[in-house]
Amino acid sequence: MRTSRGVRSRREGIIVKLVSDDGIVRYGEIAPLPEFGSETIEAAIAFCRRLGDRVSTETIRSIPDTLPACQFGFESAILGCQNLAPASLSCSRLLPAGEAAIAKVANTPPQSTFKWKIGVEAVDRELDILSELARSLPPGGKLRLDANGGLNWETANRWLACCDQLGIELFEQPLPVGEFDAMQKLRDRYATPIALDESVATVTQMERCHQRGWRGIFVVKPCIAGFPSRLRQLCRDCDLDTVFSSVFESAIAREFALRLAATVQKVPRAVGFGVEGWLATTDE
Ligand code: MG
Repeated sequence: MRTSRGVRSRREGIIVKLVSDDGIVRYGEIAPLPEFGSETIEAAIAFCRRLGDRVSTETIRSIPDTLPACQFGFESAILGCQNLAPASLSCSRLLPAGEAAIAKVANTPPQSTFKWKIGVEAVDRELDILSELARSLPPGGKLRLDANGGLNWETANRWLACCDQLGIELFEQPLPVGEFDAMQKLRDRYATPIALDESVATVTQMERCHQRGWRGIFVVKPCIAGFPSRLRQLCRDCDLDTVFSSVFESAIAREFALRLAATVQKVPRAVGFGVEGWLATTDE
């Protein structure tokens, strides 16, 4: 998968299996994404090894904030899906970068939502592709863009001016994480809704951006955000406008994450879990 940050070809994670004293088996998944600020897979493995064979609920609740993917993996295992809504939201389909996206949009069902990664090729080229992509959408189809923080002030303005004309659904993380104030300005200047993503990878960062006045959309990657209980509480207490999204986790974390999305997301927009065809398993 190509993004403005380069190419990703592997995805590693840990499946957590907990067996309670009365024999009930529960599963969770640790799916780190260190380039988004979570712990590394090595740190997660080291943490699991340190736990040994027995782990208490208190130990799980005290996993430090430096291990957000472990917080999710263990707490989702003990919480289970019982108190969450059935997964009912439609998924946006992740398109390949560049012009390959156009063919993937053709002949798709009405009302489909697509996500296209930008900032991979030259701006002029990508803006040409964008116009064609927008024209190729099925009836009622929506297109969202994701720059993964790869633009600067000038290119972000060019992109957003085009997005306003084309009625783009939303625009994820135009500028790098440090440029919070500039993203606020873009939000005031354009009609296209802007979503923070890399800036709000964890619950702690979500809290901070909300305190600093962000009232746009929050992309939530639940598997690396930290404790799901805390995430749910924050979204509820602060009435956050969220769109949930995948970190290429397996079916175990996906089921929990989709149900959490159905429970927490207040605007019924498509969630970013349409990653079929991007994952193949290996036994390595
Ligand atoms: Mg994103």
